[in-house]
Amino acid sequence: MGLSLPMMEHLLIDGDRRPAVSGSQFDLTDPATGQVWAAIAAGDAVDVDIAVQSADRARGHWRKVNSRDRTRLLLRLADLIRVNLESLARLESRNAGKPIREARDEVNLAADCFEYYAGAINKVGGQTIPVAAAGTSLTFREPVGVCGLIIPWNFPIAIAAWKLAPALAMGNTIVLKPASQTPLTALRLGELALEAGIPPGVLNVVTGSGAIAGNALVRHPLVRKISFTGSTEVGIQVMKLAAEDIKRVTLELGGKSANLIFADADLDLAVPKSMWSVLGNAGQDCCARSRILVQRSIYDTFLTQLTQQFQSLKIGLPLEESTEIGCLISTAHRDRVADYIPMGQAEGATLLWGGTIPTAAHLADGAYLVPAIFADVQPTMRIAQEEIFGPVVCVMPFDTEAEAIAIANDSFYGLSGSIWTRDIGRALRVARAIETGVLSINTGHSVHLEAPFGGVKRSGLGRELGMAVLDHYSEFKSVFIAE
Ligand code: NAP
Ligand code: MG
Repeated sequence: MGLSLPMMEHLLIDGDRRPAVSGSQFDLTDPATGQVWAAIAAGDAVDVDIAVQSADRARGHWRKVNSRDRTRLLLRLADLIRVNLESLARLESRNAGKPIREARDEVNLAADCFEYYAGAINKVGGQTIPVAAAGTSLTFREPVGVCGLIIPWNFPIAIAAWKLAPALAMGNTIVLKPASQTPLTALRLGELALEAGIPPGVLNVVTGSGAIAGNALVRHPLVRKISFTGSTEVGIQVMKLAAEDIKRVTLELGGKSANLIFADADLDLAVPKSMWSVLGNAGQDCCARSRILVQRSIYDTFLTQLTQQFQSLKIGLPLEESTEIGCLISTAHRDRVADYIPMGQAEGATLLWGGTIPTAAHLADGAYLVPAIFADVQPTMRIAQEEIFGPVVCVMPFDTEAEAIAIANDSFYGLSGSIWTRDIGRALRVARAIETGVLSINTGHSVHLEAPFGGVKRSGLGRELGMAVLDHYSEFKSVFIAE
């Protein structure tokens, strides 16, 4: 690649790329090489205020753009995302360390998301309601106003789209705060929105630290709603701060989801899909089914097959086509994940495979970890309770359906999960009994754009995706007309 100066990335406010008012910047490190490759503007409360003012000014116009024109603008943005698919995917892959094939899927998902909500714009509206009075009650569906969208580093472009598309569809204006480690595709999305014809000020992007820029966004009095995806710890702080001026808040937080494998499961499918439902994005997935519960009669067989599959994984550079497992987001995060390996062993679990740092020279400076399998895990162990957010799976045996449900529900979290069985009655019974927001039966994947997504318990509040999210980006106004 040769020597080149790091990229310089400014904020995107009111249609302009500009540095932070303070002039501060922070470095972006490539997680696969440890090299600094970009300098990013470090926005603070002053920049957030300028961005929020810009979004507030844009509100009056954007909410009045008629439904057909707004639909066309979002469709144009979806098209531009597809036109730029390869460059966006490469940027995301390099920035987050994820395999290029996964990055392409995520960019496509972002485009799909804008198309879906473009189509929703002229299909949601108010109602006329038969009230007990002489007259007509109408409901108007109105935008909430300026929305602060705060996103994490694991699926940056996809999660940005999940929030931006419905928020824009419902006529809101936006200040988007990407994660410090992955600001690049958010900035590109903001530029593509302008290129699509979405007016300046409707979508502003402020990079900067969560504790400073993120906090200022949550506190800003002109921001009417915060949609946050990230850790439960920060989600708690966001919810407390939002309470001060009754901001609307939706939270998508952590998970420690259970994957229940009954003895009658189709293991040819269940084994590889169970592996990928925890190892996708190197386990840095809030939906990771990181607790695998296996009925005792097939426990040993399952473990043997799972270990074989882990042993044949191709760990490699994110931009290489054949890579199946890329690196983690940073060496600091990799080390935090790796700390769970001796911890699990000390708790008495059996490490069947992995958990080491790869020794190959081309991976030596990157944030890599060989995916690990712990067997004989007890539900009370820290490795079974805490969200590791990396390529570590805990496998534990169970005897009865009731026991499997009890273990699955023994968690502060409730985001995702899977059930593997050929018995349809049991599948439905267990699906009803598991405390979670989304669930898949006989597959490892349950996130679909068209269906609501979100968590129960400490996994979050409110829903994203589907038509359900539109209620979170609009207010109902009831208007009574006397006759
Ligand atoms: P995080 O530390 O909570 O950060 C998420 C976002 O919040 C980042 O943009 C971060 O900015 C910002 N932030 C940090 N402190 C803040 C504060 N005090 N006020 C306002 N914003 C603040 O989470 P993460 O480490 O990026 O991501 C991992 C976590 O996200 C995991 O727990 C995972 O389960 C969860 N997650 C959940 C979902 C879901 O849909 N349920 C999806 C993906 C991830 P900085 O980057 O500058 O710190
Ligand atoms: Mg963090």
